[in-house]
Amino acid sequence: MGESEFKKLGFVGLGAMGKPMLVHLANKLPKESRIYVYDVVEDAMNEVCSKYPERVLRASSAKDVAHQADTIITMVPEGSHVRSVYLDPSHGVCSADISNKLLIDCSTIDTATSLEVKEHIEKHFPTASFYDSPVSGGVVGAIKGTIAFFLGCAESDPNIKRLTPLMEMMGKQVIPCGGPSLGLAAKLSNNYLSGVIAIACSEAFDMGMRSGLDPRTLAKVYAAGTAQNAICDRFCPVPHVYPEAPSSGGYKQGFKVQLMRKDFGLAVDMAKRVGSKNVLGEVGLETYDGASKDPNCRDLDSRVVYRYLGGNEDWQPTKNGA
Ligand code: NAD
Repeated sequence: MGESEFKKLGFVGLGAMGKPMLVHLANKLPKESRIYVYDVVEDAMNEVCSKYPERVLRASSAKDVAHQADTIITMVPEGSHVRSVYLDPSHGVCSADISNKLLIDCSTIDTATSLEVKEHIEKHFPTASFYDSPVSGGVVGAIKGTIAFFLGCAESDPNIKRLTPLMEMMGKQVIPCGGPSLGLAAKLSNNYLSGVIAIACSEAFDMGMRSGLDPRTLAKVYAAGTAQNAICDRFCPVPHVYPEAPSSGGYKQGFKVQLMRKDFGLAVDMAKRVGSKNVLGEVGLETYDGASKDPNCRDLDSRVVYRYLGGNEDWQPTKNGA
């Protein structure tokens, strides 16, 4: 990283993901760097500003962040929030003079909104650069600094040498995906695949267990056969097959089912928009929609879809006395 880089950074959105990402930056940036932060929730700002009183400074709006900082990272929930953070005529990033600034949106949103923001910036501030760079790895990954960034640009992009070291302070992998909005397209297609696998995995375990198989045997069979995948291996939806899977801790830690529903819906919309045939999309969306509204599943890890589909969680021989 060059000496002059990242002296004045901005961060908007200090939630479950944004806060730990900011903490990595506060711990790792050169001593003289300052980070200007903004969140609509006052307490979120108070917490980080009091933890790093000299280094993390509170801004009054996204516009104020953009005014103070040269490089701005945003991490908010949905497309409507991204639109307001960037395009709000009185308080948005683009209501400041952002000429020559570097803007990185890490939120998982629809590609159309991301492109709309990028086009607006290109039109009004041709020397500014905007990138989509959604992340994968969850809250635990954000805390550990192991998240992956899917960066919406080519490997030959002129800013890649500035972007990569910054992201490597918050995560362990940066994958340039080819061009604008393609980081998002990659992320949505990944979560679609992961979500479909979790449903298929839940159904496969359930039919095997109802036929009399021990789920640990089934897990060994899948791992040895053509069905091997990370959901069965490390995020097994059936509790107590893999001790560190969220299911084994009551589905408490992990990727919330409502977030899976959101990303799955965005992926299905993207498939429609680009004319991709998508036979599992509607049924998958219906399943995650139902699970995210079910009081027994809401707020829990998305692999709780196994519970939603009626899977037996109380299978352990010791528990059953078998
Ligand atoms: P969150 O709801 O915990 O945090 C979002 C933060 O943005 C909140 O503090 C909220 O107050 C703030 N915010 C909302 N609107 C704002 C505005 N207009 N101006 C300033 N701040 C505003 O959400 P999160 O879990 O941190 O997720 C953020 C993004 O990351 C989402 O797009 C999500 O899909 C994605 N993501 C989440 C996870 C995860 O496991 N939580 C994993 C990967 C990606």
